[in-house]
Amino acid sequence: MNVPELFGENVFNLQVMQDKLPKEVFKSLKKTIDEGTPLDAGVASVVANAMKDWAVEKGATHYTHWFQPMTGITAEKHDSFINPTKDGKVIMDFSGKELVVGEPDASSFPSGGVRATFEARGYTAWDPTSYAFIKDGTLCIPTAFFSYSGEVLDKKTPLLKSMRALNKQALRILRLFGNTTAKRVYPTVGAEQEYFLIDRKMYDARKDLVFSGRTLFGAKPPKGQELEDHYFGPIKTRVSEFMHDLDIELWKLGILAKTKHNEVAPSQHELAPIFTITNVASDQNQLMMETMKKVAAKHGLYCLLHEKPFAGVNGSGKHNNWSMSTDTGINLLDPGSTPAENGQFMLFLMAVVKAVDEYQDLLRLSVASAGNDHRLGANEAPPAIVSMYIGEELAGVIDALEHEVKYSGKGKQVMKLGVDTLPDLPKDTTDRNRTSPFAFTGNKFEFRMLGSTFSIAGPNIIVNTIVADELRQFADELEGASDFNTALHDVVVKTIKEHKRIIFNGNNYTEEWTKEAKKRGLLNLRNSAEALPHFADKKNIELFKRNEVFTEREVTSRMDIMLENYCKVLTIEALTMIEMGKKDIYPAVNSYIRDLCATVQDKKALGKDIDVSVEEALVSKLSSANSAMYAKTGDIEKLLIEAKMYEDPAKAAKFFAEKVIPVMQEMRAYADEMEMNTAKQYWPFPTYGDILFSV
Ligand code: ADP
Ligand code: MG
Repeated sequence: MNVPELFGENVFNLQVMQDKLPKEVFKSLKKTIDEGTPLDAGVASVVANAMKDWAVEKGATHYTHWFQPMTGITAEKHDSFINPTKDGKVIMDFSGKELVVGEPDASSFPSGGVRATFEARGYTAWDPTSYAFIKDGTLCIPTAFFSYSGEVLDKKTPLLKSMRALNKQALRILRLFGNTTAKRVYPTVGAEQEYFLIDRKMYDARKDLVFSGRTLFGAKPPKGQELEDHYFGPIKTRVSEFMHDLDIELWKLGILAKTKHNEVAPSQHELAPIFTITNVASDQNQLMMETMKKVAAKHGLYCLLHEKPFAGVNGSGKHNNWSMSTDTGINLLDPGSTPAENGQFMLFLMAVVKAVDEYQDLLRLSVASAGNDHRLGANEAPPAIVSMYIGEELAGVIDALEHEVKYSGKGKQVMKLGVDTLPDLPKDTTDRNRTSPFAFTGNKFEFRMLGSTFSIAGPNIIVNTIVADELRQFADELEGASDFNTALHDVVVKTIKEHKRIIFNGNNYTEEWTKEAKKRGLLNLRNSAEALPHFADKKNIELFKRNEVFTEREVTSRMDIMLENYCKVLTIEALTMIEMGKKDIYPAVNSYIRDLCATVQDKKALGKDIDVSVEEALVSKLSSANSAMYAKTGDIEKLLIEAKMYEDPAKAAKFFAEKVIPVMQEMRAYADEMEMNTAKQYWPFPTYGDILFSV
């Protein structure tokens, strides 16, 4: 296999553009890609034609505008290239207009009330900064999605807007440090993806997995992850064959799949790509998740992307490694080695510190979902409290700056930023704090709270926007300064003083941290119902408006969509539990009870002395548990009717979190107890042990 040749073979990338496009057209398109200049119609039609010829050569028959509605997954509507000719035949045709705009029927996508169904029309617009690609015989054109009144209906457009805001403010800062060569600053992301891989037959046999993506019942297996023998362990043949095929498919799509290994839980794995510009990383992560499912199917496997497929077993997240880079290749979160580089680094670092502290709520809610609620705060993922880790060395530097004392680490006096040099900051890979929600890892931050199913667009919109906003404030202050180095020093020290409460280098999983965080006044938004309503807080709406990322209406509509989604997911889970409880578990346990009763009868017929105490005890135990479980299905049904009466999505979400979930948990507890006491042949679906050790 020739990987370099295979890499990107299904992508209309720069290389292909250069080969297939006339020089002038290529130059003009390249300018659009690099600088975001508008594309003129003439260029678009030449590009469209070249794209079509290239795609047809590769066997494509259709094209689609590939977009990311607020469902969190991607959407596509395929049109063939055929165009009839006078002689009753067809030619393959693709116009500039078809490339640049599309009109999917938008009426069935969530819009949170932005677009009433009577004005159903929405349109998609090409994002030339993300390459077109071929997937299953269709040319896919990455696009943004709008309503005709101009409101944004997708996840991509605000992401691009947040990148624009960051670019604008970061360039102002760079100019202050005398950088005149950088034309653009963009955020970079490498998203590490966790997932479970189970046998397809196990999946098909569990309605809860099919309907809700996670198990709603299941007693703990005798062996779980306690031996820690899976993490980085040898990869089983079947899994490694899957991973091999997956890599090839991803490489063909130009995705830099790099690292793969087993994760903590049995059947759990991880795939990490090499980082790239955020909008591309976001598109590629969507493609990666889709490709994982497809390749798994070819191997008789099922890929579970849910945040918590199995209770009591580690869930799956997505670590969002984030930094900022110039078009000239400078990583702005790299500390550098000269006083000027150090000063610049500290300023960017402080922008992140201030941003995370002031917008804990936005970061928290950007990772809020019914699925992720099972992870955050469950001592396996970061807690629901947002804080950041910067490591001992940086903490020492910051402390020295704040108190104007010697930095003890190297005995060097850190007196003035921009004048003195910082001590060496080791790029550690070892003493990494894995419990921190937002950890500095030498030259980037790792935002570790994202759930495995998430589109990374949402959280990155927030990170980009909040950092842009702090950079704006710093730039405003520094641009007017008479002595730059003094002003820089002062801004950094002031930020440390005001925002150091957000820095926590200890273990985030402890009870003490929860108390300490409360003392520091940090937010603890325990679940989605508590977190999501903060989206529309006045300070947040102002932030989005100031940075031209969202309008007020877009904020409230997005918030409503997320709240409604939370309620919908829980409704599906509750209904699935009722169905499995009534139709599968209840009758199964009764069959076992009946056979136990028959055994008692038979034994008694044989003579008085034969012991029937076990059977009788089991019958009694199972009968009461089964009745109790059945009663809970009725309770849940009533609660679901009550939930429908809430018109305000925030109130409905609160009702689910506080009233419905506890009863679902009670019902599950009865079922799991019965599972442990029911003979295997009667249990109506595969157990945790069957599923987790199935591959
Ligand atoms: P580690 O294993 O220490 O976490 P890696 O270098 O392997 O560090 O990176 C983990 C993830 O972070 C990878 O996806 C990688 O591409 C990404 N990453 C590395 N540098 C950056 C950066 N400057 N910006 C964004 N992501 C990055
Ligand atoms: Mg990592």
